[in-house]
Amino acid sequence: MSPGALVLVATPIGNLDDASPRVTAALAAADAVGCEDTRRTGRLLSHLGVAAPRLIVVNEHTERDTVPGILDRLARGERVALVSDAGLPGISDPGEVLVRAAVEAGFAVEVIPGPSAAAAALVVSGLPTARFVFEGFLPRKGSARTRRLTAVATEERTVVLYEAPHRLARTVADLAGVCGPERRVVFARELTKLHEEVWRGTLGEAVARVAAVEPRGEHVLVLDGAPAPAEPTDAELVAAVTAARATGSSTRDAAAEVAERFGVGRKRVYDLALGPDAQVGVSSSRRLPKGSST
Ligand code: SAM
Repeated sequence: MSPGALVLVATPIGNLDDASPRVTAALAAADAVGCEDTRRTGRLLSHLGVAAPRLIVVNEHTERDTVPGILDRLARGERVALVSDAGLPGISDPGEVLVRAAVEAGFAVEVIPGPSAAAAALVVSGLPTARFVFEGFLPRKGSARTRRLTAVATEERTVVLYEAPHRLARTVADLAGVCGPERRVVFARELTKLHEEVWRGTLGEAVARVAAVEPRGEHVLVLDGAPAPAEPTDAELVAAVTAARATGSSTRDAAAEVAERFGVGRKRVYDLALGPDAQVGVSSSRRLPKGSST
C-alpha cells in the first residue's frame, strides 16, 4: 500500500487559468478532495477537466470534525487533496488544523504552491518586500481589535491585511487614526480578475477615496511599515542610565535595561555609563572597570 499524504493545493484567486498543470494532476490523483464549497470546487474541477472525485466539506465550521475521517483515509494510504475557495489553504482559510493533525500523526504533507492574494498584493504594491508581516483579517471589534491596531501602528515591517469591501471604510479610518494620515497604503483589488486595480496613496487619501467611491470586490491592504525610531544620542542614553540608577539599579542593570529599551548594544550603554560624561551618581572611585560585574 502506498503511503497516504495530505496535499495542500493552491487554487486561482480569480483567473482560472492560473491553475498550474500540477494543480490538475494533484486533483486528478486525489482519492478525495477537501473543499469549502462543493459547487465552487466542482466548477474548478470541471474547468480543469478532472472527473469529480469524492468531495469532503472542510470549512471553518467543519474542519475540526473532519480530522478523524481524513486521518483514517491517510492511514488507508489515500491521497487527500485540500483546496479552499481561492488561494492557498491555511492562509485565512481552513488548513492549519488538518495539517497539524496530519503532522502529529506522522503522515506526509505536501503542497502544490500557487496564487495567494497576500503575496500577489505585496509584490505589486511597490512597498518594501524584504520584511513583511501578514495580519489577515483584523478582529472585528473590542479590545482585540484595538490591541491589533496598536501593534500594526508601530510595526516597522510592511503589513498585509485582508478586508471585506463593506468593512473597508471603517478599517481604513481606524488605521489612519492609529498610524496617522501620512502613512502609505495600497489597495490591491480584484487581483487577476476583470476589474483588477492597484491604488496607491496615503491613509488620509484612502479615507477620502472610500468615502467617495464605494469599495467593491475583494481587497488586500498593504500598509507601509512605521518609521524606525531615531537612533538615540549618547546624551539620551546617559540620561536614561542616570534615571535608572536613581531608582536603585546597579550600573550594569541600568545599562542593560536602557540598552533593551532603546534597542542598542549593551556595551555601548555600559561604556557610556562608565565614561567621563556619565552622571550616574557614582563617584569615580566606585566606577567599575570595563567588563567587571556589580
Ligand atoms: N486563502 C486565500 C489566499 O491565499 O489568498 C485567502 C482567503 S480569505 C478568506 C479571502 C480574502 O483574500 C478576501 O477577503 C480578500 O481580502 C483576499 N482576496 C482573495 N482573492 C482576492 C483577489 N482576487 N484580489 C484581492 N484580494 C483577494
